[in-house]
Amino acid sequence: MSVIDEPPTSRATTPQPSAVEPAAARQAAREQAHELEQRKRWLYAVVLGLALMATVVSWLLREPDDAFLGRVYPVFGLAAAAGIGLVLWRRLPLRLVEASLLGLGGVMVLARLAWHYHAPGAVEDRLLVLTGGHYWAVGVLLVAGFVVFDRHRGTRFAVSVWVLATLIALTGAWGEVADGTLSTEALLHLGRVHVFLAALIALVAMFAVLREQLQRSWARAEVLQELAETDATTGLANRRRALAELERLRTLSDRYARPVSVVLMDLDHFKHINDRYGHAAGDEALRGAARAMADCAREADTVARWGGEELLVVAPETTLAQAAALAERARAAIRRVTVDDATLSGSLGVAELAPGEGVDALLRRVDARLYAAKRQGRDRVVSAG
Ligand code: GH3
Ligand code: MG
Ligand code: MG
Repeated sequence: MSVIDEPPTSRATTPQPSAVEPAAARQAAREQAHELEQRKRWLYAVVLGLALMATVVSWLLREPDDAFLGRVYPVFGLAAAAGIGLVLWRRLPLRLVEASLLGLGGVMVLARLAWHYHAPGAVEDRLLVLTGGHYWAVGVLLVAGFVVFDRHRGTRFAVSVWVLATLIALTGAWGEVADGTLSTEALLHLGRVHVFLAALIALVAMFAVLREQLQRSWARAEVLQELAETDATTGLANRRRALAELERLRTLSDRYARPVSVVLMDLDHFKHINDRYGHAAGDEALRGAARAMADCAREADTVARWGGEELLVVAPETTLAQAAALAERARAAIRRVTVDDATLSGSLGVAELAPGEGVDALLRRVDARLYAAKRQGRDRVVSAG
């Protein structure tokens, strides 16, 4: 079997008839979501690995009398190690894993904060320790909620952590505030830290709203772009997209001397189909012809609705002989499309871009060959003359 006779390895996916488009789009979306989930799982495994290492190092370097690090961190270390296993175990839903990890992080951070507030001695003596690392950890936890969850769940999580941290601070310092041993300066300092955390939540929530709005406008822009380049009846690329693609390929062909060919097809006696079976049946026949052409094209080809019942295939890396073979396959496929008791047929012209030729000249040549096919009796391919 020669190269030109080979059937296409896969169907043209770029311009698909509308009947098959939603399934393909759903499949692509599913694959994209799966890929994103895999990336997230690896990212979480790395983050947990780092947390595990940090826990082990803190535990090894602990002060001998630090009971919290001595007793509780080994538990956290084990939990982080188990977390790595859970993240990489694909059967567990990612949402559940994410929620558990954030929950675990929350318990660790808040437990450490509570431990420091309630440890023996004056709160004021530990103010530097508290407002150093511990509150930073609370801040990171608040932001992490927005990274992992959507805006609503992120806000709920952050507000819950903030309320718990504030309750821990109030209960921890309450005795000293009541008997007047905590200085006003220290009290103001702690108050400012909590207000700062609340402001951080508001700021990140605002960014999350902006992120959602941006995502929505990107999605809308993509749909509009798709609509602007798609033919509504057949779901194929429209004339504008075909011309843009042809112009792009002409530039590449000029630069790298690669072959580019076009196949132009016009359905035969289509007026009769409309007159006899009605315009709706005519539309359905047109969709059938579009599917037949797309099925014959390769994935890299652009199949477009060129005009009324004229379809154009733009085929990169395709010589005249290969394009003629494609056209012959398309002609035979169109013959198999039926409307009621009638079968369709089409006439096809084929042309290869000549060195230095412009898109307009190429289209004039392929148009002339299409009409030569009409003159010679229709239902045929003309690729010379
Ligand atoms: P020929 O073999 O010479 O091509 O004959 P023809 O009847 O196909 O002639 P021509 O190509 O000039 O006619 C095009 C016809 O296609 C005219 C119009 O009724 C029909 N047509 C064009 N666009 C559509 C469409 O979107 N839906 C339907 N149902 N018919 C269309
Ligand atoms: Mg026609
Ligand atoms: Mg026509």
